[in-house]
Amino acid sequence: MTLHLEGMGWIGSVLARRLEALGVDFTWSDSDSPINAWQASTGLVYPTGEPDSEEARRQWLAWHERGLFAPHSQIVRYWYSHKAHPHGLKVKADLDVGWLRRSPELAVQLNVARIVEDTRARFAGCRVSAPAPGARIVVCHGWGPRTTHSVWGWSRQVRLSVPADIAGDGLYSMNLHRSRFEFTYAYAVPGRPGWHYAGSSMVRQREPRTLDLDKHFARWLEAVAEVAPPVKVLEMDPVTLQGWRPKGETLTWEPFEDGDRLYVPPLYHSGVRWAPLVSSALLERLGLPTAA
Ligand SMILES: Cc1cc2nc3c(=O)[nH]c(=O)nc-3n(C[C@H](O)[C@H](O)[C@H](O)COP(=O)(O)OP(=O)(O)OC[C@H]3O[C@@H](n4cnc5c(N)ncnc54)[C@H](O)[C@@H]3O)c2cc1C
Repeated sequence: MTLHLEGMGWIGSVLARRLEALGVDFTWSDSDSPINAWQASTGLVYPTGEPDSEEARRQWLAWHERGLFAPHSQIVRYWYSHKAHPHGLKVKADLDVGWLRRSPELAVQLNVARIVEDTRARFAGCRVSAPAPGARIVVCHGWGPRTTHSVWGWSRQVRLSVPADIAGDGLYSMNLHRSRFEFTYAYAVPGRPGWHYAGSSMVRQREPRTLDLDKHFARWLEAVAEVAPPVKVLEMDPVTLQGWRPKGETLTWEPFEDGDRLYVPPLYHSGVRWAPLVSSALLERLGLPTAA
């Protein structure tokens, strides 16, 4: 029986790579929807206090070690401006430079857009306009029946000058929250030394629509000047990208069945972090090995 992946965005790409490693053939299709998360996604797998996410981070570290997404993944240190470690992790910073603290745990940074583009090119020969009759269809994107709304955000690549104590090993991410309600960050772009993903916002939308990118980016510049005065913006890409995170009533990484289709749930802001869990659960439901 043919296996067909509907959607070759983020989760489609991760599943495609895992199927390839297992030697399983598939076809895929994609509507090339402008409403997607992957193009603007800033792809950080950060340390948290949540056990499933920590299991996923361990798998990401192993995937990185094996070079599964090389050269579009890198290990980074996670710096934050909060007093306590963000995301509920109960550990002390292993370095404090006054305006930022460093997590003792490693993070994995992915270049999501490059991974999707490379995966699409790698499997271009398997792209079809529609699944073959009788194919087993995996709806490999979170834009399915359980998605009730989306959460808008943006990113823009910027080149930063950062003090040597932070830039020490050249690999760093900063979580520069100004308040609980606004978050501002600069995440390293794998394969582009000195460049960072500036981002982002969380704007809930019933119907996806575009927002004023200049206004949001201007706020990011203000926040960085306020929270991280030693950081200077040296250069910016001309384009600010926008993206929509698919969201449902409940947040889970567990796939679900509806009719004869297997669906990825709306993964909201955690689709990159949870990709190992989601893709393993999909493989399991397809009766395929999950080791890898
Ligand atoms: C600005 C921003 C920053 C983010 N940062 C992080 C982060 O740091 N860490 C993290 O874990 N997550 C992050 N996320 C969230 C993460 O990117 C998403 O959870 C993830 O991309 C969702 O994957 P997906 O495959 O479901 O959807 P997408 O990546 O949106 O891909 C969906 C694909 O399916 C296609 N498609 C849609 N409908 C159909 C259809 N009916 N038929 C065929 N094809 C279809 C689309 O064209 C698209 O190619 C971020 C998101 C945004 C927007």
